[in-house]
Amino acid sequence: MRTKFDAVVIGTGQSGPALAVRLAGAGHKVAIIERNRYGGTCVNTGCTPTKTLVASAYAAHLARNGVDYGVMIDGPVKIDMKRVKARKDAVAGRASENLEQWLKGTRNLTVIHGHARFDSAKTVRVNGEVLEGDRIFVNVGGRALVPPLPGLGQVQYLTNSSMMDIDFLPEHLIIIGGSYIGLEFGQMYRRFGAQVTIIEKMPQIIGREDPEVSAGVADILRKEGIAIETGADCIRVQKHGDRIGVTLDCTGTLREVLGTHLLLAMGRVPNTDDLGLESAGIKTDTRGYIAVDDQLRTNVPGVWAIGDCNGRGAFTHTSYNDYEIVADNLLSGDAQHEVRKVSDRITAYALFIAPPPGRVGMTDDEIRKSGRRALVGKRPMSRVNRAVEKGETEGFMKITVDADTKEILGTAILGVGGDEAIHCILDVMYAKAPYTVLRRAVNIHPTVAELIPTVLGELTPMA
Ligand SMILES: Cc1cc2nc3c(=O)[nH]c(=O)nc-3n(C[C@H](O)[C@H](O)[C@H](O)COP(=O)(O)OP(=O)(O)OC[C@H]3O[C@@H](n4cnc5c(N)ncnc54)[C@H](O)[C@@H]3O)c2cc1C
Repeated sequence: MRTKFDAVVIGTGQSGPALAVRLAGAGHKVAIIERNRYGGTCVNTGCTPTKTLVASAYAAHLARNGVDYGVMIDGPVKIDMKRVKARKDAVAGRASENLEQWLKGTRNLTVIHGHARFDSAKTVRVNGEVLEGDRIFVNVGGRALVPPLPGLGQVQYLTNSSMMDIDFLPEHLIIIGGSYIGLEFGQMYRRFGAQVTIIEKMPQIIGREDPEVSAGVADILRKEGIAIETGADCIRVQKHGDRIGVTLDCTGTLREVLGTHLLLAMGRVPNTDDLGLESAGIKTDTRGYIAVDDQLRTNVPGVWAIGDCNGRGAFTHTSYNDYEIVADNLLSGDAQHEVRKVSDRITAYALFIAPPPGRVGMTDDEIRKSGRRALVGKRPMSRVNRAVEKGETEGFMKITVDADTKEILGTAILGVGGDEAIHCILDVMYAKAPYTVLRRAVNIHPTVAELIPTVLGELTPMA
């Protein structure tokens, strides 16, 4: 059977559903296809479940340290991992179900469960049926990278997806990969009571971050008893009875960590290998990401790639922004409409350990390479009232500006509320306002953001 649609959307990640509903609302006949759970990575195995688990871990941490706040808990704090998982399942499950109901209740939108594969540039095959689309949008996302580490075949390992089934406390969790996924799982399992070792092949964790942000995060984690091994440039895995051994280097002293469970958090790969892209003539880069232009159009007219699978972003907010770019450019119908582009996006992310680092704009290294004359202001969280009052004084805030144009170039806020306060900076950057506007802002006391004008009043030349 062959059915014709105005638009076919493959995948229900963070951009496909919003785009499908918007197109359907504009009167287009749309089909959306999902092979797994509605909502994709973020809802089922990424942001939502991990942040729900992070909240349980934070509660455990506060309970254990209650005495510092004058809160006495009789006896040791016990964690019921089955209840922790049940809470996570309920929150993520509700989000997925709500999305499914929203899609299935939308007029002009046909929801199909199954694996989609291109038959040609205009057709997709799913469950043996052919869907023809005037426009096809690919929102297939990605999955955990499982590199061919020597010895990996001998042991059982976990990824962010299989971690979702864990309802017990691993005795010693070894995590390979010191970026946001590994660090978030590392801190939460440490707070649940596991021994945790994080192994990173780069010289520092969160490799692309400023060294002082990376060091600050490592300090926070080490203080909680997490072992961090960096510079592990030759990782091998082996079975030792009921233990898993991970060797960190192949030269000099042979360092080996022994644990009970192994989590791979070594990056992501796009779900483009089983999509029949070759039948449609859609080009990818060498890592399988679909090549797109600044408006997210592929090399094949009428086909767009949105979300993580285009390699232009790796977050929920970037995927959702992809939807906005495509939808506004297609549906505005206004000759005066300003074309929306990926290159208008400002880099921004947070890492949800506690306290969290929030980052916008360029790192120090990128600023130096840009050749701009920069000024920097910095303040430790130990001099931020709100952090002191909350008893969470680790970290710092650092804002860098262009000495000549007065633009804000980059900011890192590592500390309590850093994931929220960073938006004060991000919004001023989007407004293209000079930092001097923020310098005169009167922010609410006592907040972390309150100190942003103060930091901007104490700028010195960047070293
Ligand atoms: C552990 C973890 C934590 C994260 N935490 C955060 C966070 O805190 N903040 C943040 O911004 N980002 C976070 N992310 C990243 C975020 O989840 C992704 O960037 C986001 O989900 C965007 O994905 P997407 O829209 O590209 O597609 P995805 O969410 O990956 O969804 C793609 C969908 O397409 C479906 N699909 C694939 N191929 C086919 C096919 N051939 N046919 C039919 N369906 C198909 C898949 O089943 C999936 O449902 C996290 C990721 C992980 C792994």
